[in-house]
Amino acid sequence: MTDRRSPYFDEHTEPVATRIATGLHKIGLAMKQQAWQQANEEGLSATQGQILAALVGHGPLTGTELSERLGVTLPTISDSVRVLVTKQLVTKSPDPRHPRASLLKPTERGATLGARARSWPEFMADAVADLAPEEQRAFFAGVMKMIRSLQEQGLVPLSGMCVTCKHFRPNVRPGASPHHCALVDAPLAGEQLRLDCPEHARAEDTVRQRLWEQFLRRG
Ligand code: SF4
Repeated sequence: MTDRRSPYFDEHTEPVATRIATGLHKIGLAMKQQAWQQANEEGLSATQGQILAALVGHGPLTGTELSERLGVTLPTISDSVRVLVTKQLVTKSPDPRHPRASLLKPTERGATLGARARSWPEFMADAVADLAPEEQRAFFAGVMKMIRSLQEQGLVPLSGMCVTCKHFRPNVRPGASPHHCALVDAPLAGEQLRLDCPEHARAEDTVRQRLWEQFLRRG
């Protein structure tokens, strides 16, 4: 047996970027199927479960805010909210910030279901836990960069990530925690960067680009 690189596989194997995309597609299908199955068990649609999870995770939101956070159209959100209100899982109250908008809040039962829906991706966390610590760090960095790229293309809602937040200060000091969150005035290590922070405040386009360039200087 030889350990020479095989020209056969060089010719018959897709580039690694294509294979990563295929792998992510398979993972996406597994997540979708799990979400459907678990939503079904709770008597919800996947979107209704996402809405309850978002309201539990972020506090009261308007339909428009939910639409932006979840990347789901406003009519779909409105349909799902109507069902959730009918099922007494969500209540509406006037939004003091916008007189014509309604704030959506989960009821006690809605909050219980929302907390459960938040744990739907846990099966994936179990699979990720099988990776070695350095594999997890590399994977996290790759996932964050991919999400950021998709956000800038408008394919994923632009929310939640430190690297697009106006409070983020990348690479401001040497050492293990080079970044800083100006909101809570605390250092951040690379593996502590958040993907779904409820306090995220979107930075302006030019600021986001500058933050990203500063982040990549060491990232
Ligand atoms: S507010 Fe949240 S998203 Fe923004 S930098 Fe701080 S931890 Fe990151």
